[in-house]
Amino acid sequence: MKRIVLLGASGSIGDQVLDIVEDHPDQYVIIGLSVGRRVEKLAAYLRSHDVPYACVQYEEDRKALEVEFPNTVFFSGDEGLKKMSELQCDLFINALVGFAGVVPTLTAIKTGNTIALANKETLVAAGELVNQALQENNVKILPIDSEHSAIFQCIQNAPSSDVKRLIITASGGSFRDRTREELANVTVKDALSHPNWSMGSKITIDSATMMNKGFEVIEAHYLFDLPYTSIDTIMHRESIIHSMVEFKDHSVLAQLGQADMRIPIQVALSHPERLEMQRDNRLDLLKVGTLHFEELSHERYPLLALAYRVGKAKGALPCVMNAANEVAVSRFLKGEISFLDIERIVIGMVDAYENHPITSVDQLIQIDQETREKALLF
Ligand code: NDP
Ligand code: MG
Repeated sequence: MKRIVLLGASGSIGDQVLDIVEDHPDQYVIIGLSVGRRVEKLAAYLRSHDVPYACVQYEEDRKALEVEFPNTVFFSGDEGLKKMSELQCDLFINALVGFAGVVPTLTAIKTGNTIALANKETLVAAGELVNQALQENNVKILPIDSEHSAIFQCIQNAPSSDVKRLIITASGGSFRDRTREELANVTVKDALSHPNWSMGSKITIDSATMMNKGFEVIEAHYLFDLPYTSIDTIMHRESIIHSMVEFKDHSVLAQLGQADMRIPIQVALSHPERLEMQRDNRLDLLKVGTLHFEELSHERYPLLALAYRVGKAKGALPCVMNAANEVAVSRFLKGEISFLDIERIVIGMVDAYENHPITSVDQLIQIDQETREKALLF
């Protein structure tokens, strides 16, 4: 039995992790769960499962749950997430969204837990610190993001010197068939209708701006130890090939499957073994028929270009880009700014920042906080 701690259990990835756990009751047991505000989801789970530890965002929710579930130890807030990350387990799954995932990942690494990572913002904002901590603690990260799961499966244990290039595929997001001029008046509802995937609202907007693909380039750089010049992106509308690896002998390996996150989630949970999939999500290539590939233009998607530039620059800039983006996306979702304002804020704030190296997580937290305050008014 693998003992699992899952952060972000009420989200899109969290839900699907619980699906896979339910599918294999003889393989997995949840020993810790966290949610943010959606405490009803946590309560529903606790009514049918014994879970020793749980965490919620707000203190008042914690107090109410402690009355109903006296056999569970509850924590709350950021401090609570840190406590959850100190629990010894066989797999620590980070499915939080945003910078909130950084300290839990770093803490779980120090605890010595193997990590299954959905929270890509961890590697975007804190990639250098995370890789250093992984080495110091001899800990592994298993990717959940579908592109990185694909690369992970293709690359196996090949040394990075065998790899010529990673080719990260992109569906193109909600606005792949619109010109830049047509983006001026798009609505929140338009932006939230992703053609291939059903995901949390933040990553759905990140997919429409292509910030998500930029984040994935940085994520790949840290996970697979390759320079940015060896990481390419390509638009692939069908989302059937989840990414590819080109080796130095020009052999190219791809991983294919239906666009269902439960596949990469199960790959991460069962690693290094494979388990029978209990869901109806087999790939039927005859139904798919044709696969298409198009250039992902850096002019059409300036946030993708920005991510390459910021990734190469390292230091504080990736954290600034991430924080500015989180605030801009949240303001767009609230209807306060237009879709193109997201780019304006993120690029503007990165360009206004004097870059410098990062030496500690406390420094990163301060930069994140200061950038958020400025991005609210930018
Ligand atoms: P959701 O918004 O659906 O879920 C996010 C989870 O994090 C929720 O459980 C939420 O709690 C919790 N949370 C958010 N902020 C806080 C906080 N400050 N304190 C405590 N808990 C918090 O996101 P997704 O599941 O879509 O995405 C999760 C991560 O996975 C992201 O980094 C995303 O980029 C990545 N990812 C997602 C994919 C997908 O298909 N969804 C695909 C690939 C990567 P609550 O809702 O209860 O407030
Ligand atoms: Mg992805």
